[in-house]
Amino acid sequence: MKVIVLGAGIVGTASAWFLQKAGHEVIVVERQPGAALETSFANGGQISVSHAEPWANPAAPKKLLQWLGREDAPLLFRLRPDLLQWRWGLAFLRECTPARTAHNIRQIVNIAEYSRQTLQAVRAETGIDYDCETRGILHFYTDEDEFRHSLPAAALMRELGCPRETISADEVVRIEPALARIRSKIVGGDFTATDESGDVYKFTSGLAARCAEAGVDFRYNHSVTRILSEGTGPAARITGIEVIDAHGRHQRLQADSFVLATGSFSAELLRPLGISLMLYPGKGYSATYQVRQPTLAPQVSLTDDGYKLVISRLGDRLRVAGTCEINGYTRELNPVRCEAITRRTRELFPDACDYENPVYWTGLRPLTPSNVPYIGRTKYANLFLNTGHGTLGWTMGCGSGRAIADIVSGHRPDVDFAFTGITRRDYSPTIASVPVRS
Ligand SMILES: Cc1cc2nc3c(=O)[nH]c(=O)nc-3n(C[C@H](O)[C@H](O)[C@H](O)COP(=O)(O)OP(=O)(O)OC[C@H]3O[C@@H](n4cnc5c(N)ncnc54)[C@H](O)[C@@H]3O)c2cc1C
Repeated sequence: MKVIVLGAGIVGTASAWFLQKAGHEVIVVERQPGAALETSFANGGQISVSHAEPWANPAAPKKLLQWLGREDAPLLFRLRPDLLQWRWGLAFLRECTPARTAHNIRQIVNIAEYSRQTLQAVRAETGIDYDCETRGILHFYTDEDEFRHSLPAAALMRELGCPRETISADEVVRIEPALARIRSKIVGGDFTATDESGDVYKFTSGLAARCAEAGVDFRYNHSVTRILSEGTGPAARITGIEVIDAHGRHQRLQADSFVLATGSFSAELLRPLGISLMLYPGKGYSATYQVRQPTLAPQVSLTDDGYKLVISRLGDRLRVAGTCEINGYTRELNPVRCEAITRRTRELFPDACDYENPVYWTGLRPLTPSNVPYIGRTKYANLFLNTGHGTLGWTMGCGSGRAIADIVSGHRPDVDFAFTGITRRDYSPTIASVPVRS
């Protein structure tokens, strides 16, 4: 079967990898000159199954109100005259009930755990070097209340099979000695030894190169302008896509099936087809510093709870990422936020890095209100979704790619997840139920 994948971020590239392995002829259409040049470029680097709690949780509404209008807030809604933003905000609030939160956490843990195993298998098979660290993720707290509130989340993760162990401040520093300088401020932490970190750009561009060697046809510098359809009801199908290349030339591309993996830009491509995704961009920041003194910079991937920052060592660089602005599609750098990241990193590891030459970046997380991605089918029999991976696209990307390749090939994926538009009738009766998500 000929399959066109739209988008070459981590999600689209992983989809292409598994589709070609399943024997399909694969074309990837990407508007950038290479893979992973948008949100999958400079993220926090964490493969964090242990941090599956979505931002939409019972504590979120109160926190959001406290943070409204604060320039350095970890999660900031900037209200705009934008209907989608308001509808998204209301849907976000609906996901904050204890029952919805518990459901969403379970979904995210399932696909994230499956994805980590898939990433490990791809790493072993391809040998891609992406500054991977398998030393776990250490979450440290500097506020007693926040630490106390984190205990049920850690306990829930353990219940779901994720070994997120609560530990003392001394243990925090034993696991990551680079934190010794702020030992007196740390009140406790939790540590998940099975979590990992690595450079999502290096991995994705490496995987794209392996895909190309295996015969995947990458059409870089090609923007998808329209998805073409015919028929109605059960006969509705996609007939092709319209693209425009860097020289302004229009073209139509045809295939048997189409996988949409265009991250934050997925909703606008689908709207003319009558498919309405609850997807909104969440702008995040990262700063990357050159490490000057390797022993003073952390090796273990960290989450700094007080500042809601994640910190990953990527070889001779230190990546620090965080914050989220719900404010449309702008990727402008706000100097207040950039400087806040550098100030905090310098405070934690004063002599570790070159703080005079930071590389700042912003990216748009494709956020669903629940942080559960859309992976599965649409009302068009040959159009599939793999988008909306929000805060955890690196963590869930490889598994999502493998799952969509199974779905496109007519097989039930080997993971318990509420795939979009799929019912148990879609697969053989010997297979256990696949929950439906509309
Ligand atoms: C600051 C920050 C920190 C983060 N930290 C982490 C972390 O530590 N761990 C984690 O798991 N996740 C993290 N994330 C989230 C993660 O980076 C994203 O979820 C993930 O990169 C999304 O991947 P994607 O492939 O869906 O989207 P993208 O990487 O954006 O890929 C979509 C691709 O589609 C292309 N495209 C879009 N529209 C068109 C079109 N019309 N025609 C052709 N091509 C098109 C784009 O050019 C792009 O390359 C972080 C995100 C941010 C912003």
